[in-house]
This record gives sequence, structure tokens and C-alpha cells, in this order.
Amino acid sequence: MFKRLSTELALIYAALFGLVLTLIACAVWVAVDANSRQAVRAEMSASSAVFDRLWRLRADQLSQTADVLARDFGFRKAVATGDSETIISALDNLQSRFGLDSAFVVDPDGRLLSKDKSQGAMAEPALLDALNNRPEASGVLMLDGAPYQAVAAPINAPTLIGWAVFAKRLGGADLGELENLSAIPLTAHLYIHGKDGRWISADQRGGRGPGVSSDDLAQRAFAATRPGSGSRSGEELIDIPEDNSTAGVKRLESFGGDVPAALVLEYSLSVNQAHYRSMLVQILLIGFAGLIALVAGSWFVSGRVTGPISGLRAAASRLAHGEVAEVRVKGRNEIAELAVNFNIMSDEIAAREKRIIHLAQHDNETGLPNLRGLDKRLGEMRAKTDPAHIFGAVLGVDRFHQVRSAIGHALSARLIAEIAARISGSFGELFVGRMTTETLAVVFHAESEEAALRTISAIAELASQPMRLSEDRIDVLVTAGVACDGDGADTRLSLLERAEVAMEQARAKRTRTASFDRTAYGDPSAALSLMGSMVLGLTRGELFLAHQPKLDLRGGKVASAEALLRWRHPQRGMIPPDRFIGMAEETGHIRPLTDWVIDRAISDQRKLREAGRDMQLSVNVSGRLIANEQFADRALRQIRRSGANLCFEITETAVIDNPKLAVDVMKDLRDAGVGISIDDYGSGLSSLSYLRTIPAQELKIDKTFVQGMARGNSDALLVKSTIDLAHSLGMKVAAEGVETADVLALLQAMGADTAQGFFIARPMPIDDFVKFEVAGDAIAPRPAPTLRGLA
Ligand code: C2E
Ligand code: CA
Ligand code: CA
Repeated sequence: MFKRLSTELALIYAALFGLVLTLIACAVWVAVDANSRQAVRAEMSASSAVFDRLWRLRADQLSQTADVLARDFGFRKAVATGDSETIISALDNLQSRFGLDSAFVVDPDGRLLSKDKSQGAMAEPALLDALNNRPEASGVLMLDGAPYQAVAAPINAPTLIGWAVFAKRLGGADLGELENLSAIPLTAHLYIHGKDGRWISADQRGGRGPGVSSDDLAQRAFAATRPGSGSRSGEELIDIPEDNSTAGVKRLESFGGDVPAALVLEYSLSVNQAHYRSMLVQILLIGFAGLIALVAGSWFVSGRVTGPISGLRAAASRLAHGEVAEVRVKGRNEIAELAVNFNIMSDEIAAREKRIIHLAQHDNETGLPNLRGLDKRLGEMRAKTDPAHIFGAVLGVDRFHQVRSAIGHALSARLIAEIAARISGSFGELFVGRMTTETLAVVFHAESEEAALRTISAIAELASQPMRLSEDRIDVLVTAGVACDGDGADTRLSLLERAEVAMEQARAKRTRTASFDRTAYGDPSAALSLMGSMVLGLTRGELFLAHQPKLDLRGGKVASAEALLRWRHPQRGMIPPDRFIGMAEETGHIRPLTDWVIDRAISDQRKLREAGRDMQLSVNVSGRLIANEQFADRALRQIRRSGANLCFEITETAVIDNPKLAVDVMKDLRDAGVGISIDDYGSGLSSLSYLRTIPAQELKIDKTFVQGMARGNSDALLVKSTIDLAHSLGMKVAAEGVETADVLALLQAMGADTAQGFFIARPMPIDDFVKFEVAGDAIAPRPAPTLRGLA
């Protein structure tokens, strides 16, 4: 998801920390909320208890006063005789002494007697009812629409002759006193249930929060404390979310039971939580600062961890592209250890490659550069010099075979080495290599053909001087041919091949030296006529495929085969593929030819399947074709349509010509299930790590090396290193050209995966191959590896 590990780590840590922080903040908030509700609840009930005591104190005071009056003999007499003047004076006296707001007498008929009531005023029926029901009533009483705390005392003489009622106005002052007594800033309200069924604020204090109207609050308060609502003591806490407040409701005793009244203590949680909120803000600020520090810290730490990993990654990618890769080692931790091991591995790969390349480019008998070494040098010269000034010469020891049978193989190799040493000793600027067992090749710079010929004559002269090898004096004659790199365009021969032809031409003319004679060499248009008859041969069915089995060295059986092209010409007989494939490549006939080979391989594979032998067939695909997209598209279409199981054998040079395109096409092929095999490995110059960029599953070691193994020379070492290196790059190794049991055994011991060669079976037409395979099936069980078809 992220391109950089350090970003990913920093973000993960930040997210985790942020999550923890949020959880802590939530937990704090929940705790604060619960705590403040708890505190409010406790405070509410404390305040309510205070109010209870105040209420009772006053009720007691009023009752005592009323009682004293009701028992007073004179007063009773005045009530009994209806002496209103005495009654009023007594009431007035008490009213002003005890600060009562109202004091009056009610007689059993409901007549009122008090200083502020007119003569003959009647008590409200509800009041009378209340007094009749409970002669010592006490509680909230509405008088002229205002709430009072009232008590009544019966006047008996000795029968009931009336009641003395004392009342104190309930209002803001009492509530204010209650508010002041409370430790928390609460607001007290008194609500009365009016006659019209509405709840009214009885204290006219106002000051309620904006969310809920007083009526509404009263409604809820009564609902909560209504008998039967679950409230035990007529006391309840209710939440008012609209104002974020809590209210404690306390139902008040009603004088006659008909005036529901309640005290509501309201407390705003917002006020309570305000200082917690600032604490929460502080926690969040500290947390945020911590988050920034954490992101910076983890960025720094992960940068320190991933920095060296990035270095390793970059070095590994360079190594994969065949470059030298070294990583700087810092510190002594696991990553540093990895870097050290990486460097060792990288050095080892480089050293082994150097050695393999050296082995591949040098003749192991004489240590001289071989043909590949010579080619490499030519490539370097071509990059700097005009081809008209590059010359190649081939020097052959006359009658070498006789010389060799006289002095033996070892001495004749020393002879060749001695001649090469003489040449390099006298002509330092020349590059000398061994081209074949009996020829040396020289590549050099000269101003003109005459100058080149002069040099070559001098060399031939020098080389033909008698020499001493161990005890023997040996006289040899050397013949040399020379060719110019600039004028080979109209032949298909390479510079050294032309020089070799020139040497043969010199021998034919019995001269010591000669330069390449174009006319004597012949007409290349013959090649074109060969192509014409090949196209015709294709339509006439002269071409077919011969299949050569590939032995799986682990499974011990034939698991695949290589399809090789054959051309039986009606007049000229069998024409080997080497004679026309190269030509087809150069004349553009290779594309239709390969299309044909693929189609034929698909149909041959079908025949094998019908005979119960399902196996992969390898097809040789010329390097020039692989970067041809039309070819690849058609091949993919055919393979997908038929479900064929094919492998393309491609020589490494194909990739070197147009690496990007060739690799892309090969990836498409691989994705479509087509196997890719690098053919003739070792005959080219590329390094294994370069081949790493090719998406191949198989590396096919060139038969010259496989055959060289049997002779016990350094080819065996080369094959072994190649097998190991290819395996370490995840490729299987096939060896071709296996002609003897010894070589097969050696290959198996070295860990090669597949072997192919005349020792196992020769290429054969499909019908023979089917028979061969079916016959092989009959021999069971087979020990591994079984060399079927050989017995
Ligand atoms: P190659 O791809 O290296 O094929 C292996 C050659 O080695 C074949 O020669 C095969 O017959 C030969 N061979 C197999 N086992 C042994 C052995 O034990 N000892 C020896 N000395 N030789 C062995 P062939 O069939 O003559 O093919 C020569 C080359 O022609 C092939 O070399 C391949 O490069 C090319 N070629 C053959 N068929 C096709 C084709 O259909 N398309 C293309 N583009 N090239 C092809
Ligand atoms: Ca091949
Ligand atoms: Ca090959």
C-alpha cells in the first residue's frame, strides 16, 4: 500500500496511539460524567433533607402556636359566643408576634373570621372539606390563588366549634434560603397544580434554563413522583437532557390532599462539568503533542531501520541486472550482518562469473584466448576503429596432423602456444588466440590491405622458424590467410571465417600468405535459390519434424522432446538444418518457416496425446523472431486455441539484440504457459546474471561443453559451475549432446535436470517417436534413470 516502510510504520503507530488516546478520553469523560451525576445526586438529597427539616420546623412552630390558641379558655369562649372582636384581636396579636402571613378561624358552617376578611365571608368548600377530614391538617394551602404553608388546630368546647388556621406564605425567600444552604449552585422552584389542571410556578422566580418551559418541567416532575410511579418517598431525580441538567423533585404535603405541590431543585451539569471539560482539553492537548512526538520519533526510528533495507534492495536490484553491487555496512545489528553476507555473496557471484567468462573465453590447453575471446576483442575494436582498418588472420601449421602424431597431443599444444608467444613477443599490438586445435587467429589494425599482408608475411616468417620443444628441434611451416573486416558484406562468413578461407586459398595456391579472394569463394545468390526451393519444399511436404527425447534425470523417464526441423530434398537428399536455417533468418523466410514448425509441433503433440503420451515439445525459435510481435501474437493464438504445451528454445543472442522487447514478449509467452529455454548456453558471451533478466525456466548447456566434459578438461568445471549458478537463479538445467554413458553419469552427479543426446535417442519422425514411447511404456517398472530405446 505504501511505497516506503517508514511511512507505513509511522502511520500505524500514529493510528494506534490516536486510538488509545481516544479511548482514554472516552473513559475519562464517562468517569467524569458518572462522577458528577453521583455528586449531584448526593447533593440533591442533602438539600432535600435540609428543606424537609426547614419545612417541618416551620410546620411545628405553626402548629404549636395554633394549638396554644385553640386551647386558650378565653379564646374558646369568644369563639363559642361569636365574640368576633376578641377573636380578631387574638389572631392579630399572634399574627404580628409570629410573623404569620394569614391567621383565621373557620366555624363548622364554613364562616370565616379574620382581620382581613369581611364580616360573613365563607371558606372555600375545599378548605372546609379538608378541615372536616383532618382537623389537624398541615401542608400547602392555596389562599386567594397564592401558596401557603398552613396548619389547622381544632377548637373544642368541648364539642368542635371551629378551627384556628395559621399560614405562612411560600415564596422566593424560602427558596433563596435553601439555595444558599446548598453546597452546589442549584436553583429551587415550587410548583402547584392549579385548578385548571395546569402546573404553575408558585414562586414567580423565573430563571429556568432555555430548553424546557417551567410547565413542562413541572409536568415531568409530577409524572416522576406521582404515587404509583415507582417513587418511594415522593422524591425522585429526573434528567433534563435539553438543558443538560438534573432535577430533584420532592412532593410536598398538601393541606387538604387536593393541592398537589412539589419542590424542584434543579442543577446544571454543564456548570459542574465545566472544569472537567478544561481538564479533558488539557489531556487532549498533551495527547496531541504526544502524537506529534510519536510520529516524528517513529519516522526517525523506522527511517533508521528501513534506510539500510532500502540500500540492500537497491543493491539486490543492481545485482539482478548484472552490475557490481556493494552495500555500505553500518553498525553491528542483524541488518548489518545481512549486508555483510550480501556483499560476500555479491563478490562471490562476481568472482565466479569472472572465472566462468574466463574459462569460456580461453582455451584451456594453452591458456590462449579462444574463438569467443577473439570475438570479444573484435567487438571492442569495432567500437573504436573503422572496419576498413580491422584485419583478421588465420595461421595454420601445415600438415599439423602428421606433426601431432609425431610429437603427441601435449607437445603439439605447446607448439601452438610457442608460436603464439613468438608472435606476441615481436608484435605486441596484435591480439593472438587459438581458433581451432591447429590454427591460431590474429586480429589487428592496419592502414591498408598491403600493410596487413606485409605484417602477416612477417608473422608467417617468424612462426616458421625452427623451434626447440623439450629435447626436440621442430621445423614447422605456417600458412596464413588474411581478410578485412570492412569488406565482408556480401558473404555470410565472419571475418575469421573469411581469413580461414583465405588460408585454404593460400594453401591451394601454394603460397605462404593470401588475402580473401571473393570471386574464388563463389556466388551467394545460390543461397537465395536454396530458399526458393525450401518454400516450394514446404508446400510439397518435403519438410517434417524429428523429435529427440529429453530424459528427465530425476524422474528417470522421457518427459519432453525437442522438435528439430528436417528437409528431405528429392534430388539432394537430407539437407541439415544448419545449412538453411541461417539463410532463412537472413532472407526473412524464418517467420513462415517457424509458423509452420509451431503448427506441426502442435499436431505432432496431438498424435502423442492420442497415443497416451502427453509431454512438452520444445521448438527452436530463432532469436530474431522473438522480438517480432506479429510472430508472437500468432504463436500465442495458435497455442491458446489448441491448448498445446510448448517450450521455446531461444539463443541468448536474441535478447542482447533488443533486450526490452524480447523480454516483454517472453513474459507474455511465459504467462500464456509457454516454457522458455535458453539454448546453446556458453557459446555466447553474456554473463549469467545478465540472463537473469530473461524469464526462462531452463538453461540448455551447449553441446560443445557437454562433449568437452568427456575429454576431462576444464569444460567439466564450467558445466558444474553453470549448473550451480543456474539453480541458484531458479532455472533448470538441460544438457544436450550426451553421447556416452560416462557423460550422462557425470551430468547426473553434477545435478543437471535433463539430458538429451544420441546416447539416449536420436531425433526421429513423429510416427517412430510414438512407437518408441509406447514401447518404452511396456518396460515397467523402470529404475531411474532408464535409458529407454537403447537396449
Ligand atoms: P540445436 O537447437 O542445438 O539442436 C540440437 C542439435 O544437436 C540437433 O542438430 C541434434 O540433432 C544435435 N544432437 C542431438 N544430440 C546430439 C549428440 O548426442 N551429439 C551430437 N553431435 N549432436 C547431437 P540438428 O537437428 O542438426 O540441428 C542443428 C541446429 O539447427 C539446432 O541446434 C537448431 O539451432 C537449428 N534448428 C533445428 N530445427 C530448427 C527449427 O525448427 N527452427 C530453428 N529456428 N532452428 C532449428
Ligand atoms: Ca535447440
Ligand atoms: Ca543447442
